[in-house]
Amino acid sequence: LVASMEQVDETYIMVKPDGVQRGLVGEIISRFEKKGFKLTGLKLFQCPKELAEEHYKDLKAKPFFPGLIDYITSGPVVCMAWEGVGVVASARKLIGSTDPLKAEPGTIRGDLAVQTGRNVVHGSDSPENGKREIGLWFKEGELCQWTPAQAPWLR
Ligand code: ADP
Ligand code: MG
Repeated sequence: LVASMEQVDETYIMVKPDGVQRGLVGEIISRFEKKGFKLTGLKLFQCPKELAEEHYKDLKAKPFFPGLIDYITSGPVVCMAWEGVGVVASARKLIGSTDPLKAEPGTIRGDLAVQTGRNVVHGSDSPENGKREIGLWFKEGELCQWTPAQAPWLR
């Protein structure tokens, strides 16, 4: 009842090309499913350069920006929208620090990656960016609103 009064957020999670190439798609999806968040969008997608640049526009001035765009467009990614109370902050915790060597064991990056430039997964950093990024990566008809029958608290 307490949870039902709280704000339901949405976040954009993406398995990056290295995660797809390494066969980590199922493992990564599973972490969010097991935590108890609700999947509302899912697709395998080859990202065009323009979209990668728009998604990471705040990092445009960084020296690693061109390499980041090459990386994200180097092969298919798995795009996901997840919904739930506190999902943005919780997903960031599940993902771990940007540098996988600093990410705690038990987190996705802490368990599965070693390089900042190949850190297997993306997660939105605020509820506002969650909405913005889901809008960027998904078309209207690609998202599903549904209530899990066995777990109605997910809404
Ligand atoms: P996060 O993905 O944890 O939110 P940032 O938003 O700071 O991290 O950076 C976005 C992505 O850019 C990182 O996940 C990583 O793929 C890449 N990146 C960040 N810093 C570096 C760096 N110093 N060298 C190479 N790639 C980087
Ligand atoms: Mg970020």
